[in-house]
Amino acid sequence: MTSRVETLLGRWDGEEVIVRHDQLTNAWIVIAIHSTRLGPAAGGTRMKPYESLADAVEDAQRLAEGMTYKFAIADLPRGGGKAVLAVPQGLRERERADLLRRYGALIAQLGGLYQTGPDVGTSAVDMDVIAETGAPYVFGRTPDHGGSGDSGPATAVGVLAGMRVTCERLFGQGALAGRSVVVQGAGSVGLPLLRLLLEEGADVAFADAAPEACERAHAELGLRAIAPEEVYDRACDIFAPCALGGILNERTIPRLRCRAVVGSANNQLASEGDAVRLRDRGILYAPDYVVNCGGAMALLGRETLGWSHEEADARIAATVRATLAQIYALADAEDVPTDEAARIVADARLERGPASASAGRGGAAM
Ligand code: NAD
Repeated sequence: MTSRVETLLGRWDGEEVIVRHDQLTNAWIVIAIHSTRLGPAAGGTRMKPYESLADAVEDAQRLAEGMTYKFAIADLPRGGGKAVLAVPQGLRERERADLLRRYGALIAQLGGLYQTGPDVGTSAVDMDVIAETGAPYVFGRTPDHGGSGDSGPATAVGVLAGMRVTCERLFGQGALAGRSVVVQGAGSVGLPLLRLLLEEGADVAFADAAPEACERAHAELGLRAIAPEEVYDRACDIFAPCALGGILNERTIPRLRCRAVVGSANNQLASEGDAVRLRDRGILYAPDYVVNCGGAMALLGRETLGWSHEEADARIAATVRATLAQIYALADAEDVPTDEAARIVADARLERGPASASAGRGGAAM
């Protein structure tokens, strides 16, 4: 009988999947390389427990594919990759750090095929540890270790720019003052996004599954969380998923009472049919990899292309503004869901090949 892992590996259109079992911790390391068409594969390292190896492989494959499109859309000379560290529950700190070092050694062994940065479950401090053995292929280290630190605030800048374009489309003007926005997840992206929205005068609400995150948002911004499930039912202009993927699905979409979805979470649509479901409900969807490219842009731009913090923010906002407006216009013109329009734009850039990835040579697209 064919196992699910075999099925996932067999039907994938990506380039390769590297799987290593870490004997000492019983963790699985999965590195999915979706495409190196525009450059070496790059993508964050996700670390969390998974039900099975197959779940970890599937997540890595889907996330790596998203990175291919994200870099194509952001016009950056990188291909799509992603690593998943499927760890057992309750890994002790020392075991965790040693696992990260062994993972770094594997990255070094790959010799530049794959470059990484932080993702859910890993931080800039973790990148410092991975870089001990994995340099020079590790981005997003702490500023003390020569990195540009947490990429969440840069991602939030792009999401905010996406919200402006969306408001222009829906309401004829991009100002967020007075617009109601519900944010799911107040973590590395959600919290700075909430701060930016408050500065803009938006009417915000948020939920987070972790009490510490709710307490931090209350302490820093004076906001009180709503219940996690309430985000789907609350009437608002924009719903911003900034937690985990798969949250737009046949169960949640009928409940949504928003005009648009614009958020940072990767792989928000549980299945392809969900883009159509959203459109049928008249909800404008800003494709996730289009609006959440800010983190990747900031890490690569600041650490390899010499951008300052301000320059990175300006380029991120300009890129998201231009690309999302193009995608919305194409979706209208072709009468297709925005998700499909984004794929058309990204595929065209991939088709043109590395020459179109111009950010490293002056950033014509930004
Ligand atoms: P994070 O881990 O810092 O924050 C996520 C937050 O979501 C956590 O506080 C967590 O408690 C909360 N959460 C989890 N499940 C929830 C639920 N069901 N309801 C409400 N809250 C829930 O992660 P992050 O770095 O802020 O990233 C958020 C999302 O954006 C992820 O999908 C990530 O892949 C994506 N993303 C992040 C970046 C970045 O620069 N950090 C870039 C691109 C995409």
